[in-house]
Amino acid sequence: METTSPWMNEELQAFRDAVRRFVEGEIVPHQETWRKQQHVDRGLWRKAGELGLLGADIPEEYGGAGGSFAHMAVVFEELSYGGDTAFGIHVHAIVEHYLLNQGTEEQKRKYLPRLASGEMIAAIAMSEPGAGSDLKGIRTTARKTPEGYRLNGSKTFISNGYLADLILVVAKTDPAAGAKGVSLMLLETKDNPGFRVGRILEKVGQKGQDTCELFFDEAHVALDNVLGGEEGRGFAQLMTELPYERTILGVCGVAAIERALRLTLEHTRERKAFGQLLIEMQNTRFVLAEIKTEATIARVFIDRCIEDMLAGRMDTVQASMAKWWISDLQCKVVDQCVQLFGGYGYMLEYPIAQMYVDARVQRIYGGANEIMKEIIARSL
Ligand SMILES: Cc1cc2nc3c(=O)[nH]c(=O)nc-3n(C[C@H](O)[C@H](O)[C@H](O)COP(=O)(O)OP(=O)(O)OC[C@H]3O[C@@H](n4cnc5c(N)ncnc54)[C@H](O)[C@@H]3O)c2cc1C
Repeated sequence: METTSPWMNEELQAFRDAVRRFVEGEIVPHQETWRKQQHVDRGLWRKAGELGLLGADIPEEYGGAGGSFAHMAVVFEELSYGGDTAFGIHVHAIVEHYLLNQGTEEQKRKYLPRLASGEMIAAIAMSEPGAGSDLKGIRTTARKTPEGYRLNGSKTFISNGYLADLILVVAKTDPAAGAKGVSLMLLETKDNPGFRVGRILEKVGQKGQDTCELFFDEAHVALDNVLGGEEGRGFAQLMTELPYERTILGVCGVAAIERALRLTLEHTRERKAFGQLLIEMQNTRFVLAEIKTEATIARVFIDRCIEDMLAGRMDTVQASMAKWWISDLQCKVVDQCVQLFGGYGYMLEYPIAQMYVDARVQRIYGGANEIMKEIIARSL
């Protein structure tokens, strides 16, 4: 699927071609294996690092490729066009941006090159069994000792949880201080006896993605590893960085809508019923005409979001609009496409069925859509 986005140019098109080859060669052939084992192979991270995908928009001085958000948008789009939902590069990029924008110089130099190369895989751990939308209710604590911080508590639904080497953990450094007592802690998983990964959770879709429970029992975090070097700034840091995550979800959602339309056009142009191609029936044509219109509106909106990200003027409200509206549309469109596939649309060997089970969570993670509406409503 080619787009004529205003932010595209020749250099980005060449990058898109390279990413597409990577997706076709290194991801698509392994999707079934990864779904069965519930995680991708570590080698994929190294290969993606070599191609510059893991730090596409991270400055070269920190080991990245020195590109812009447009490069990352191309990566996310191409992964969606290839039907990928296993490779947790999205979460990895989110953590890189926390480090880039909120980390100390020492933290950036220590971790960004290793994340950009794929030597380290990143995760972000906010949600807990008792607190998801309401992050103020988290119970994980980080207690300062002369040897470092000691983390106690648990997290759940953590993407990349099984493979992660570096986890940005939301914890209370001062439980009595409410939102001001929350800090983001950079936890290294290697040789950390107090840290344990629980099971890889059995999900409805996105089965190739290692979504895990994590447990901290006096887990160690170095004294230098409070993000930004100062306790108590966690909530402010979260509020600043969440728009990046939500815009990414919008970018992936639009690409998924475009893919669903393409797949359904191909199918309805081949399949016959009552002596006619499905595409020749007025209902099919009207449904697809509606989807094409909605896909175009979504594309125009996300292109503007990408341009706003590039110009540094994306805000929380607009990112929340992109996240809820596009993920809702994605689920509706994919459901309509499944209907046009008939019984084949319910068979997992057909990509549209896979898209159906993979799409649903888009309305839940990254902040539930109801929370997005709360944020937008506050701006009325
Ligand atoms: C596949 C997957 C991957 C994930 N990856 C990560 C990850 O990498 N890191 C991480 O930290 N978390 C992750 N999550 C967790 C995700 O962010 C949370 O599930 C989400 O924020 C919702 O929190 P919750 O599940 O606790 O639901 P709850 O907070 O219990 O909310 C349940 C529902 O209640 C409603 N609701 C809640 N509050 C309000 C309100 N104020 N107004 C109106 N309605 C409301 C909403 O409909 C919401 O969907 C992941 C989740 C999934 C399923």
